[in-house]
Amino acid sequence: MPDESRMTLRSLDPRAPWVISTHELGRRPGSMRQMVRSLPAPENLGVDMIGVPKDADVELDIRLESVMEGVLVTGTGRAPLSGECARCLEPLTSEIEAGFQELFFYSAEDAAEDDQILDGDLLDLEPTFRDAVVLALPLSPVCQDDCPGLCTECGIRLADAGPDHRHDKVDARWARLQGLISEHDNDQEG
Ligand SMILES: [Zn+2]
Ligand SMILES: [Zn+2]
Repeated sequence: MPDESRMTLRSLDPRAPWVISTHELGRRPGSMRQMVRSLPAPENLGVDMIGVPKDADVELDIRLESVMEGVLVTGTGRAPLSGECARCLEPLTSEIEAGFQELFFYSAEDAAEDDQILDGDLLDLEPTFRDAVVLALPLSPVCQDDCPGLCTECGIRLADAGPDHRHDKVDARWARLQGLISEHDNDQEG
């Protein structure tokens, strides 16, 4: 039996940028349609440290394929990224390419809990693309592969400070250890 509460939740706006019509497929298994689109990135597409800026152009390359249970969508999306370096906290920009594949079911009866369902001829690609982007994001983005990060002593960005940056102050723990060693030597002598 179809889950009525879920059916009523899904009322898609055909003018929303990420809502795509599958009308031309005509629900004939085997029919296929290829499309290229540029869509504005939705809000909060990413994680704390890095993500796709809102309204940035997402270049999508999509194939819609009619199968028995619904419409199979396979595609890739390319978008700019902006965030900060996980080591030195400098702002950085980059690009992301995320691949995805999702079966949008005609009927909630055939679908499991987390599956996507068509609203008439319409499907909403945003959640699918969102998941794909989050999976494809770098776990710790860096401004450059060999970013040396920040000085643990003074916090300066080491890439700016140069290779000679160091502090003469002896580490307090090391100083204490040196003290213990000389005490130990004295004990043995005495
Ligand atoms: Zn960095
Ligand atoms: Zn320093």
